[in-house]
Amino acid sequence: MPSQQQSLFDTQPAPWELDDASERLVATVVLPGRLLGEFDYLVPESLVAAKKPEDAVLPGKRLRVPFGRGNRGVVGYCVSLGNKPTGGRKLKPVWDVLDPQPLLSPAMLRLTAWMADYYLCPWAQVLEAVVPAGVREHAGTRDVTLLSVPTAVSARLAQLDLPAKQAAALRVLAASPRPLTARQLAARAQCTLGPIRELRKKGLIEESVKRIGAYREAIPPAAKERPHALNEDQQRALGMIHDALHAAEHRTIVIHGVTGSGKTEVYIRAIEEVIHFGRQAILLVPEISLTPQTVARFRARFDHVAVLHSHQSDAERHEHWQRIARGEVPVIVGARSAVFAPTPHLGLIVLDEEHEATFKQDKAPRYHARDVALRRAADKSIPLVLASATPSLESWYRAQQGEFQLVEMPRRVLQRPLPAVRTIDLREQAHSKFWRGAISRPLCQAMNAALADDGQVILLLNRRGHSTHIQCPACGVALVCPHCEIAMTFHRSDNTALCHYCDYHMTAPTQCPECKYAGLRFSGLGTQKLEAEVRSRFPDYACLRMDTDSMRQRGSHERALTAFREGKVKILVGTQMIAKGLDFPNVTLVGVINADTALHLPDFRAAERTFQLVTQVAGRTGRGDQGGRVLVQTLSPDAPAIMAAIRHDFPAFARAELPNRETLGYPPFASMVRIVTRGTSETASRELAEELARRLRDATVGTTAIRLLGPAPAPIARLRGHFRYHLQLHAIDRQALHDAVRTATADLKLPDGVNWTVDVDPLDMM
Ligand code: ADP
Ligand code: ZN
Repeated sequence: MPSQQQSLFDTQPAPWELDDASERLVATVVLPGRLLGEFDYLVPESLVAAKKPEDAVLPGKRLRVPFGRGNRGVVGYCVSLGNKPTGGRKLKPVWDVLDPQPLLSPAMLRLTAWMADYYLCPWAQVLEAVVPAGVREHAGTRDVTLLSVPTAVSARLAQLDLPAKQAAALRVLAASPRPLTARQLAARAQCTLGPIRELRKKGLIEESVKRIGAYREAIPPAAKERPHALNEDQQRALGMIHDALHAAEHRTIVIHGVTGSGKTEVYIRAIEEVIHFGRQAILLVPEISLTPQTVARFRARFDHVAVLHSHQSDAERHEHWQRIARGEVPVIVGARSAVFAPTPHLGLIVLDEEHEATFKQDKAPRYHARDVALRRAADKSIPLVLASATPSLESWYRAQQGEFQLVEMPRRVLQRPLPAVRTIDLREQAHSKFWRGAISRPLCQAMNAALADDGQVILLLNRRGHSTHIQCPACGVALVCPHCEIAMTFHRSDNTALCHYCDYHMTAPTQCPECKYAGLRFSGLGTQKLEAEVRSRFPDYACLRMDTDSMRQRGSHERALTAFREGKVKILVGTQMIAKGLDFPNVTLVGVINADTALHLPDFRAAERTFQLVTQVAGRTGRGDQGGRVLVQTLSPDAPAIMAAIRHDFPAFARAELPNRETLGYPPFASMVRIVTRGTSETASRELAEELARRLRDATVGTTAIRLLGPAPAPIARLRGHFRYHLQLHAIDRQALHDAVRTATADLKLPDGVNWTVDVDPLDMM
């Protein structure tokens, strides 16, 4: 809007030249990118005007402001507005207002400020993550020109001497309670556009431009479902949420319920109640659970549901955002980022499968939706519900401490039994001379029995590809990715060797790259090899593999699940993709091919992940009337995580695991920050890590309670051609820890070619 800028300069003496001690209206603006910071600007008279709020500077809107010596125009977010003494500072003026309405409410501004502080990242970066690109760019909207009659003109309407058609059009427009487009006016005044054009020329009609949304969502009609009568456990859980809602205060309620205990039904009821009060609810689920099946379940119970997911176009997202912000949508279902839904009347937040790692964003800002939700709920004095069959130890511990409320749902609905889980000790199988391949004899027998009874079988193996190692038996060289130094996986379908970290691939070699020996060994089990074994040993039953390789096409996931649900496929082979949230009544056997895949990773959560995976996949069976069983193949049948999982005993797992965490000073007993450096030069990356360690040691002098581990090469020491080093910091006192990191990194100068990231409460330790 250059004209506006122009008029600003014409009508006022350059405001930054005014140098008085009196108070002025000042907007604080957060600038993005390299500018990184908050700056004060004067708000010129023309942008205060109370009668046109869409032109006014308000917190939560984006502003265009001059920056630097050359007064380059940059866009930033207004985060506060108020009268301030300028104290002799020569402030520059705001140039333009970009948004007719604030994109962030005061509460969302508070939340983003907290995130910037907590996650040790720039506020602007958080703001960019919270406001979807489609909203910032007004995606899917178009400008319409609206006509109205200025008050000065309508006051002397009778005195005007106009041709009949023009007079009629002007009368119609003056009588209209809201502005009209030229076409609307022509239709109502029964004239052509000609007279309207004449009126505009004479200045008797005023124009304004407004953006309107062009996107309309087509929602398939859903059959309405009759709710179940709640059982005792469900009533107790609902009662607890109910009490919190009525107390109108913040409480966090952890629902620990076994798979199939009716948790979903409980929070659906709670959401119904919230809507009944005229409020809104946000339900966060892992992206992978956002299947048409689950969405249909919510649509069957709520008239208006906004579903937010990552496949949406910018226009779609923008339209949802606007409808939510106008308070038109009572229920918002979505993945991680739906925690930022701009609900004006929020009454409840629910996280389903709260332990899922996908609630943590793996790029900056590295926030965890659970902790953001907690902050938002506390700020709004509303309840937060965390539901899971395998709560995170963080949430569990806080419930044990009395900080969260805990409600247990230990039984499945309708007295359905929990599946019987048994381990198969692979060490014994290894000695058997009959055993070849991945499926042990007991598992094979159980599969035959289940299939003969017309049941279905799920086999879980958490490694994709065919063979996970390619090695030369003559010289011992293993094929690793040239960019990551990670073992390459052999994919038979397209005869490639593939790096699972960076997607680097090459035609699978037939001879050793070092010694040219022509008998490379392909070993280590992946889902493709397992699928081949199943097909050859169970030729009479249809088998389907589900992993990221076979499910690349959009819609393939749903097609596969439909085929399985309809019984066209009898054996489903897959990675953890199949372990989550699926509900198939006819699955009577689940086999875990190797429960140890995650157990020995260099990650303090390895045991927790293993417990979760085995429990979740076990929950996929016995959902119908036939009951079900689970066989878990493992080399470590005595590992506490596996022993507890087969007994469905989460508390026992927590009792075994928490003392380890406490001894080693890991969460939930301490806060953690992880810093990773990366660079194309190994030396530069290491030196940056050392420099950071030095600064951190300086910053923590006297605060003995902060422990620094490293620097050391990260477990994934090379990724996409970058050498990686990491540092870990642990402390009981979170604030002291964060302050130390902030101090140590404040004025860090980066040499070329290296960079670093900071991860607060890291989940990824690789
Ligand atoms: P969870 O979320 O704990 O896995 P769900 O709420 O999805 O459990 O319930 C599992 C199944 O039991 C669903 O098919 C649901 O419709 C059904 N269900 C839930 N509550 C009841 C109830 N009180 N009586 C009968 N069936 C129920
Ligand atoms: Zn790689």
